[in-house]
Amino acid sequence: DALVSQIAAGEVVERPASVVRELVDNALDAGATQVTVRLTGGGLRAIVVEDDGGGIPSPQLALAVKRHATSKIASLSELEHVRSMGFRGEALAAIASVAELCIASRALEAAHAHRLDARTGELTAAARAVGTTVEVRELFFNTPARRKFLKSEGTEFAHALDAVRRHALARPDVSFSVWHDGKLAAQWRAAGAGLLPEDNPLTQRMREVLGIDFIAASRGVQAAAGPLRIDGRAGNPEAARSRADVQYLYVNGRFVRDRLVAHAVRSAYEDQLHGSRQPAYVLFLDIAPELVDVNVHPTKIEVRFRDSRAVHQAVRQALVQALALTRA
Ligand code: ADP
Ligand code: MG
Repeated sequence: DALVSQIAAGEVVERPASVVRELVDNALDAGATQVTVRLTGGGLRAIVVEDDGGGIPSPQLALAVKRHATSKIASLSELEHVRSMGFRGEALAAIASVAELCIASRALEAAHAHRLDARTGELTAAARAVGTTVEVRELFFNTPARRKFLKSEGTEFAHALDAVRRHALARPDVSFSVWHDGKLAAQWRAAGAGLLPEDNPLTQRMREVLGIDFIAASRGVQAAAGPLRIDGRAGNPEAARSRADVQYLYVNGRFVRDRLVAHAVRSAYEDQLHGSRQPAYVLFLDIAPELVDVNVHPTKIEVRFRDSRAVHQAVRQALVQALALTRA
């Protein structure tokens, strides 16, 4: 069974960034307004994610690290309407099979916190405010083959930071901070303070995460087509730089990769982009959950649209419109 778990873990946990993504997903699902990520040695030595969400009642702590244990859906039919980031109940179990994992959590009504060591199963009293801290140490200590595929600490940290950046762009209502080897590497505060008159919270967060240059060299995208809403920003065709590094796509708040949508975006620029230049974009697609399958890939990075042609057309149209507007 240890082998089976490790093979399954291979699909979910590829590198420190995968752990960060799953733990931040869980924090957001728990209703956190503040998420702190602390990495040591690019995340190989330690990854600690703290949140101020609803916490886990102590009798359920042991269940949380069991395979296929999720508190987010009770039946397969609920998957059609899932709004949470998680639903597979796999991440904590997968991480625990390839690293040392401890969870300290205090639920809303609890008198104090409890801490579970996933390896020993030991449950002890702990002190913390309402919320959860998950600590992951020595990732892949028992799977040296995997460890060999990892890059330098700096590269792994960069991937982990990008994982938080993806969450941060979609959730301007949540504060994020990221620490590496004891130094603050990034901090994005919840929207409110410092909102420019022309800003909405998403734009403000984009400016903070991606820089003022992205805002200056892009335009708003906003469209609705049937059950689909499209929001975000797309780079000006005449922008000086090719920006494959700034291509963020979200479906119902979840960061995904999708060739179809990427193609639709690129095709809207037609011959306005020279050579192999890539447009920058941050796009949020909102669609009725029953029109998109999110359970396509263990890491949930891919989705399948029920009507992919309609999505392609709507995205292309939204971009064509946005690009035409400011040119006129
Ligand atoms: P999933 O997110 O798919 O349900 P996970 O393995 O990621 O599966 O987490 C298992 C369960 O542990 C979750 O369903 C949730 O009940 C609980 N959990 C994990 N992390 C947190 C957290 N930060 N705050 C509250 N509950 C959590
Ligand atoms: Mg999860």
